[in-house]
Amino acid sequence: MHELHEKCGVFGAFGQNLEAARTVHRGLWALQHRGQEGSGIVSADGSGMFVHKGTGLVSHVFSEADVARLPGHLAIGHNRYSTSGGSLSTHVQPVFNGDNVLALAHNGNLPDTTSLQIFLREHGISTNGRNDSELMHLALTHFMVKGATLPQAMERCWPLFKGVFSLLLMTNNELVAVRDQCGVRPLALGHLANGYVVASETCALATVNATDIREVQPGEMVVIDERGLRVQQLAPPTPRLDVFEFVYFARWDSIIAGQRVYLVRKRLGQELAREVSIEADVVIPVPESGIPAANGFGQALGLPVDNGFTKNHYIHRTFIRPDQSTRETGVALKLNPVPELFDGQRVVIIDDSIVRGTTSRWLVNAARKLGARKVHLLVSSPPVRYPDFYGIDTPDQSNLLAAGRSIDEMQDFIGADSLRFLSLEGMLRAVGVPREQLCLSCFTGEYPVDIGARRADIKQIECR
Ligand code: AMP
Repeated sequence: MHELHEKCGVFGAFGQNLEAARTVHRGLWALQHRGQEGSGIVSADGSGMFVHKGTGLVSHVFSEADVARLPGHLAIGHNRYSTSGGSLSTHVQPVFNGDNVLALAHNGNLPDTTSLQIFLREHGISTNGRNDSELMHLALTHFMVKGATLPQAMERCWPLFKGVFSLLLMTNNELVAVRDQCGVRPLALGHLANGYVVASETCALATVNATDIREVQPGEMVVIDERGLRVQQLAPPTPRLDVFEFVYFARWDSIIAGQRVYLVRKRLGQELAREVSIEADVVIPVPESGIPAANGFGQALGLPVDNGFTKNHYIHRTFIRPDQSTRETGVALKLNPVPELFDGQRVVIIDDSIVRGTTSRWLVNAARKLGARKVHLLVSSPPVRYPDFYGIDTPDQSNLLAAGRSIDEMQDFIGADSLRFLSLEGMLRAVGVPREQLCLSCFTGEYPVDIGARRADIKQIECR
């Protein structure tokens, strides 16, 4: 199960006379950035449940006819992003076994499924080959076939679900949204003229013309059916939103924890400008996630910002190529320079984060080859020294450039004239959410949700 980490997008819709699958389909388009490996929708019309899913982008998986074959006023959908390993097509979500009991869409990860697996085996249910989301589906179904309603089953399962989950669940006639006690992954609730939608990010609410109501609170269950919307707090909230949603994952037009992501990223650049002094002619962002920070940095220092790199939007997943040489080819396919912007210039390249260092090394090298006089690399977040266990696709700690390397060693590897990261304090100022309400694990190694046996996979690193 270790190979299956997901950073995903979920979207659900319920409404009188609503073509729910069509709404969800549009919502999944808006959440494509959260997962490109697979996509699926389950719908229901009160008498039966219908499913369509497959591997690839939303546009590959769904034709108009496929969406039209998903009737009903209720639907949930999922975009999947997974590492390789395991049989991808069998794990595309929503989890649904065709028995009309329950469909489940999960964003997050349960780092420790021991108690869940013990519970299932004790009840004679095989857990072989099941990932965390499928185990949750098995446990909920177990209670439901014994007569529990979906909200009752969710209450019973709550102590077994140890980890990170923004979940959408549905039966034939109700939609349920649940967020783990820490709310590590986002989940937003919206209102349509004739119903409700729930989405990983508010950008998808805007796409379907829904009004943003509020976030599903950490530890909260929202039940939507023909009687309307009810909420139940399953555990007291202890918010620990993942700061990486602001740094990289979320689409920048989304609002998370009351903060517009674009403005947070721009402030990250402004904070960098406070911390770093560099003589430069031009600021060049790594598209797209470096763009707001480059704008903030350039504006703060009165430096021109130019689009020196073009991103090919049709290439995905260089980040998780299996070996380094194909990964580098992947960067070359995805990012290409505009040569005239580099020749003879003192260039500041800004990216949101360094993971393995492949992207930065390739870009710095490209800038040099094109005649840049100086190439400085600025990163609008602190060094990523720890892996993620909460639903993000980061490699083993040993593959993280910053794990066990000093800034100077990283600078040598990347080949830049200087390398600077934003400080943790600078990042926190830019984010504007209190530190105690954030998960900073990939920067600090402090994991707010127990990672169980996975603790053995990490070593604490002294910051040098
Ligand atoms: P690397 O080349 O391994 O250092 O990866 C860093 C690049 O990947 C940066 O340009 C980031 O914007 C991007 N990035 C950071 N985290 C992720 C992630 N979880 N999935 C995909 N790309 C990422």
